[in-house]
Amino acid sequence: MNLKKYICMFGLLMLLLLLASCQTTTQNASTAETTDITDASAIKIQASQETTENNGDSAAKLLYQGHASLRLTSKDGTVIYVDPYAGDGYDVPADIILVTHQHSDHNQIQLVTQKPDCTIISNAEALAGGTHNSFSVKGIDIQSVEAGNNPNHDITQCVGYIITIDGIKVYVAGDTSKTDQMSTFADMGLNYAFLPCDGTYNMDAKTAAECAKLINAKHNIPYHTHPGELFDEQVAENFDAPNRLIIQPGDEIVLTGD
Ligand SMILES: [Zn+2]
Repeated sequence: MNLKKYICMFGLLMLLLLLASCQTTTQNASTAETTDITDASAIKIQASQETTENNGDSAAKLLYQGHASLRLTSKDGTVIYVDPYAGDGYDVPADIILVTHQHSDHNQIQLVTQKPDCTIISNAEALAGGTHNSFSVKGIDIQSVEAGNNPNHDITQCVGYIITIDGIKVYVAGDTSKTDQMSTFADMGLNYAFLPCDGTYNMDAKTAAECAKLINAKHNIPYHTHPGELFDEQVAENFDAPNRLIIQPGDEIVLTGD
């Protein structure tokens, strides 16, 4: 009888031990699961940060599409096209389209995908009644300035634009030769200046480089280098300007205040 009781007690003890062991295993599994979820969250946060960096949402950007065509994107994703005509990249919906004059290599606005509230500013709005107008659209400041001033480009029918995007000033000269107003730009602290230098319809690379010295932007960029071509490397090389920056068609740069 005593032996039976002893065996019974032993069996009960073993059962208790077995149950205790099971509970520990369950706790371990539960801890492991919690750790896995934490890791997954960390990866998700990291991925989201990487996406932000990849999208460049933290910086204003400029895509040079070739010839005289540009696409600018602000930090918050406001999209501005200037003189749509050349290259690719017109699929990002536009908030603003700027046209410097009505020659067919500058005004192909139908190429651009537009947001329903897209604002189009052409030379007619920018230069009205002899006055160069300024605009503020979705946080982007746009100042129209003199352009043309040569036999192919009437100064009353052409404009350039100074676009202020996230505090960075980008001067897009349009089709032009030297203008009187250029000498006033040095005081504006321009960050980027795009200057035509084809030497056929506008000033050549030598005169454009002289204008660059006058304007004194932190980056001077040759564009509209050759009629009928996206880009002429040799003409760009002839643009012997201080702080020269050559951007190839299709290249997108991050805009900086430097
Ligand atoms: Zn042109």
